[in-house]
Amino acid sequence: LLSDDGAPIPTIFAEMSALAADTGAINLGQGFPDEDGPEEILQVARRAIADGVNQYPPGRGILDLRQAIADHQHRFYGISLDPERDVLVTAGATEALAAALLAFTDGPDDEVVVFEPYYDAYAATVALAGARLVPVPLRAPDFQPDLDELRSAVSDRTRVILVNDPHNPTGAVFSRDVLDEVVSLAHRHDALIVTDEVYEHLAFDTPHTPIATLPGAWERTLTISSGGKTFSTTGWKIGWATGPADLVDAVLAVKQFLTYVNGAPFQPAIATGLRLPDAFFHGTADTLKAKRDVLGTGLHAAGFEVFEPAGTYFTVVDAAPLGATDAAAFCRSLPERAGVVAIPLTAFVTSGHRSAYATLVRFAACKRTEVLEEAAARLAALS
Ligand code: PMP
Ligand code: GLN
Repeated sequence: LLSDDGAPIPTIFAEMSALAADTGAINLGQGFPDEDGPEEILQVARRAIADGVNQYPPGRGILDLRQAIADHQHRFYGISLDPERDVLVTAGATEALAAALLAFTDGPDDEVVVFEPYYDAYAATVALAGARLVPVPLRAPDFQPDLDELRSAVSDRTRVILVNDPHNPTGAVFSRDVLDEVVSLAHRHDALIVTDEVYEHLAFDTPHTPIATLPGAWERTLTISSGGKTFSTTGWKIGWATGPADLVDAVLAVKQFLTYVNGAPFQPAIATGLRLPDAFFHGTADTLKAKRDVLGTGLHAAGFEVFEPAGTYFTVVDAAPLGATDAAAFCRSLPERAGVVAIPLTAFVTSGHRSAYATLVRFAACKRTEVLEEAAARLAALS
């Protein structure tokens, strides 16, 4: 996590957003929207600050938000949660993940199975927890894991199978067979499932299936999500962990010493968001699907091989048809060559596995359509 001179190594997102700021390039790297979410939830946050909701909230989060999280999971997935015991509010999904991995692993003999490429915090957090990361590869074009490779990664040393569905960076939505296999392996090896579903409302074609709803999954699954993506409030860092009370309690035991509590005035605002009508949630997915198509068309026209995503903010392409042999070098040169920033997939894999992803690049579609069109026009000049 530190460079040779002892300074923290910036994350790929910090590095690429700084490059965009320095060069004035269009930032299709870090995944954050360039428009605000629903005005009514912004209003609730403003009002909460004006009304003095500015001190420590309760350790598990305000009850109204926990109730809203429970109601939302019941409305969309038929899951019944006790807001007093089964729900914990965290500082984004990131803290829930960190607290869960710290709670559920205990040293270098404990293994965490992850799908690779993976969101960068996974490997860093497993390292902070002192546990061992065991990656299962996802390969183009569909980025579904091979079930035999998944089976051979899970063993009695596995404490946690870490799922991310819909998946960042690939945009894959895992098939039912993959989710079933995860549950069955978790049973066979007495492992827990930690599932990061921050893109739960950004699955484009099929309604999202939380792995916790599969037969036999509930009692060993901790589900993590966040308001950031759903409500375009990535800077508010209101996330949550839900599941059986004993798992949630273990996460709380760690969370209380990481941040104690978080985001008082944003909590009632996210509660309001979670209670918006179904049309809001469907509209969010439809809007992003249209942006995915604009971006995908532009990337294809520019000469990339495009792997169309089934969900998330992101589209992965192969830059080899444009002559790229090293995605990191390609992305570093892209602002100067085309005025666009993107992220090399090699940032999301362990160092020994980079060659398999050497020419793959991730572009974010969560920007205004005119921004995506301008990026597409600039990229067209590449070929
Ligand atoms: N998990 C995944 C897969 C993500 O892409 C992100 C990025 N936002 C996070 C977790 C972090 O979520 P939050 O900002 O709520 O901590
Ligand atoms: N989740 C977003 C992404 O993958 C942003 C993450 C971050 O900035 N840490 O781009």
